[in-house]
Amino acid sequence: MQSWRSALGSLNGPVDGFTGAVGNTPLIRLNHLSKETGCDIYGKAEFMNPGGSVKDRAALFVVKDAEERGLLQPGGTVVEGTAGNTGIGLAHVCRSRGYKCVIYMPNTQSQEKIDLLKMLGADVRAVPAVPFTDPANYNHQAKAFAETTAGAVWTNQFDNTANRRAHLETTGPEIWRQMNGHLDGFVCATGTGGTLAGTTRYLKTISDNKVKCFLADPPGSVLYALKKTGQLERTGAGSITEGIGQGRVTDNLAPDFELLDDAVHVPDEASIATVYRLLDEEGLFIGASSALNVAAAAQVAKILGPGHHIVTILCDGAYRYQSRLFSRSWLESKGLIDAIPSSLHKYISLQ
Ligand code: PMP
Repeated sequence: MQSWRSALGSLNGPVDGFTGAVGNTPLIRLNHLSKETGCDIYGKAEFMNPGGSVKDRAALFVVKDAEERGLLQPGGTVVEGTAGNTGIGLAHVCRSRGYKCVIYMPNTQSQEKIDLLKMLGADVRAVPAVPFTDPANYNHQAKAFAETTAGAVWTNQFDNTANRRAHLETTGPEIWRQMNGHLDGFVCATGTGGTLAGTTRYLKTISDNKVKCFLADPPGSVLYALKKTGQLERTGAGSITEGIGQGRVTDNLAPDFELLDDAVHVPDEASIATVYRLLDEEGLFIGASSALNVAAAAQVAKILGPGHHIVTILCDGAYRYQSRLFSRSWLESKGLIDAIPSSLHKYISLQ
């Protein structure tokens, strides 16, 4: 029998501080879904980044970019509008590099993420959730605060293309290397679009356009319709997923949107069922955006047919959302309880 030690991948040497530990995440084969679809489906374990999500990469790159452009001096302040994970990544990066961190976020986000940001030393400002077109939108407030505060920089994750560069220079190359070039499909959802755009650009370039790349979109987002019909129209109402879904094409997504081969829409019923399935079958405790990505990968497996290798992103852990995703009353309030097979109701641990 193979020993546990040899079953573990080879360890690299020490890394330089928190930021040195960002990236180089494992690529996990999802064995049950692979068997069911006849494809090899893999999840990039971004929840294993040191700040706990895929957004550690973007946080590192936007801070490095501000330093390189001379906008951020020692002791300066980083300001960002974020639904949570970028803020968590930024709070870690700022502590490790001696910057202050101010986070504006919509007040609809989970309490776990707000509490964590505060514990990490960020100055959190939860503001009403209003559309981007409203000047009171959390992003505009972040920008205005940075503009009127000495030594502060607004890192502008949605439209600062240092974000997509993180994935062009790290996520994409890691996936290609881990798959040894045997890759047919890539799919993930978008918040800023940095992960999808940067990774797609790299995979399309290195594979000479052979890897098929797909957008995964939740209810309430306009990007699925944009890909399918060219119209910026919402498909469905809002979603229980956090951090994904868009009402516009960001500067991070714009240069690569046309590279995408197709789009898949994932209803919340499929996303929540996949949260529970991944826990039950794979032992993976991951958030709803990751579950949506995995459900999308199953759709892509159907589109490509059996025998293909497909990669998606496991963005963060379910720890950040457990008071919602594992609460019976919350699931009932969202009309999602019946989406979870009764054999998996044993995981619903909170009233
Ligand atoms: N999943 C979660 C949980 C997130 O917080 C985010 C970022 N908001 C994403 C996915 C999407 O990543 P990106 O911003 O690179 O599109």
